[in-house]
Amino acid sequence: MSDATAKKEERRKFQAIRGTRDLLPPETALWNRVEQTAHEVFTTFGYGEIRLPVLENIELFARSIGGETDIVGKEMFSFEEFGWTAIDTFRREIITTNPIELRKIQTLASDSVKVKTERFLTALNEAVDRGEIKRTPETVQALAIVPQKRDELLAALATGDIKWSDKELTILWGVIQQAVKNVRLGDQVALRPEATASVCRAYIEHNMQQLPQPVKLYYTGPMFRRERPQKGRYRQFYQIGAEILGGTDAPAIDAEVIEMLMTYFDRVGLQGATLYINSIGHNADNCRRGYVANLKSALEKVKDKLGPDSQRRIDTNPLRVLDSKLESEQAIIATLPHIADHLCDECKTHYAEVKRQLEVRGVLYQENWRLVRGLDYYMRTTFEITAPGLGSQNAVCGGGRYDGLVELLGGPPTKGIGFAIGEDRLILSLQESGKGQVQQGRDVYIAWMGERAYAAAIRAAKDLRSAGFSAELPPLEQKFGKALGQADKLGAKYALILGDNEVSEGLWTIKTLSTGEQQKLPEPDLIEFLRTQKNVSS
Ligand code: ATP
Ligand code: MG
Repeated sequence: MSDATAKKEERRKFQAIRGTRDLLPPETALWNRVEQTAHEVFTTFGYGEIRLPVLENIELFARSIGGETDIVGKEMFSFEEFGWTAIDTFRREIITTNPIELRKIQTLASDSVKVKTERFLTALNEAVDRGEIKRTPETVQALAIVPQKRDELLAALATGDIKWSDKELTILWGVIQQAVKNVRLGDQVALRPEATASVCRAYIEHNMQQLPQPVKLYYTGPMFRRERPQKGRYRQFYQIGAEILGGTDAPAIDAEVIEMLMTYFDRVGLQGATLYINSIGHNADNCRRGYVANLKSALEKVKDKLGPDSQRRIDTNPLRVLDSKLESEQAIIATLPHIADHLCDECKTHYAEVKRQLEVRGVLYQENWRLVRGLDYYMRTTFEITAPGLGSQNAVCGGGRYDGLVELLGGPPTKGIGFAIGEDRLILSLQESGKGQVQQGRDVYIAWMGERAYAAAIRAAKDLRSAGFSAELPPLEQKFGKALGQADKLGAKYALILGDNEVSEGLWTIKTLSTGEQQKLPEPDLIEFLRTQKNVSS
């Protein structure tokens, strides 16, 4: 390979990583509009914005979302987080030292083994004593195993029981390397897969229970899940969500959250959105637990007709069987018992009142008895919104009540309800229905020729921009023909033509590019002219 091709190969290597993507103009203007509308609508309902970190301790998600779920079990991006420490350097020295390499320099090799392990052990012991590193079982094990295996190794080498060429050498060194690798220098942190847990963490951390209740918060931002990328499913995706924490669990709260959501979707122009609701009761024997037991025995009876995923879920999480999209299972699922017939009186009343309140607010809904959440702390109202144009990933929003979550994360007993909109899917659906256009392009392209005209052009650009019009001022002189072509390509509405004639006459030429109409104006009239035009056209 020639140098040039090698360089090219190297350059071609960089691409956005799988499941992530760049959002580019003009599409980003749509993203901005969608987010801006969220700020506006949510503010009118009394919500304040919370900006959360993208990194959280992994335990937060393990505890809230649950270790049994796909999200926590296999989809999180996580890594070990620690400040600069020499131990990391010493650890890396051991991990990257290949015994095959050691062999080449036998005389120094024994010393190298001694020095590398000793440096690491000293640093680790000191850090544990200072409390900088936790005395985890892995750490204790490394402190014991590394010196032991090292001594074994050195002794065997000295007596000739092991030769530098022996496989045993690699195996012993491998044990040391593994023990060293297992030491935890810091906490495991994860890129957040969702934000509800973070909002609850923040509520507790900042004692928000002392504020007037409920606390109404909303957020926007990227989430990360290592899923199989496909249309409407990415590894970095964006959510717009809101949570209400504290105060009462009155059905009016549930109904208002949903009303806000539908108002928002209407305002951004989403068409064909369908709201599905359900109540999943609460986690008690006379309510959901009773239903789940009932469901489980019904499932056992049809077990051999179900696929392997559903069969497994009968034991791990029977409610999730209702989620199944498998064509072959649909007829069987249709015969299963409904949760509505097993709700306790309080949950039944709550659900009936949520529905009544939705009706009072003019919110259309469909009941879907199969809409569930697999987690214990989710309770009562559950909802989902689907939109057209998204294929099988058609859910644009999921939400529900989760009264136990704040307590589960170490806070006081707190009512909670919230939702998360999949922004990527919302945008896709808007684009598919033709509601995705956002006006782009410049208002005015300034075609100038000559030094004197350039000075006027700079002045014009400044005035236009401060009046709120977008203006493109080409950095180099161009022939008018070329400039007008450029203006067209950029989608400019007007071209302001400034040449020697215009400057000496004090009359500027403004050309409406869609009609080709041209007009002469004195400089001070320019802004007023554009404003009038804008009012006429809108
Ligand atoms: P799905 O069943 O589509 O995987 P989910 O139940 O995992 O959704 P939630 O955790 O409730 O989704 O998140 C709320 C919303 O976030 C979803 O309705 C969807 O619009 C969006 N969403 C979830 N995962 C992704 C993803 N990987 N890419 C894009 N959007 C996503
Ligand atoms: Mg999912």
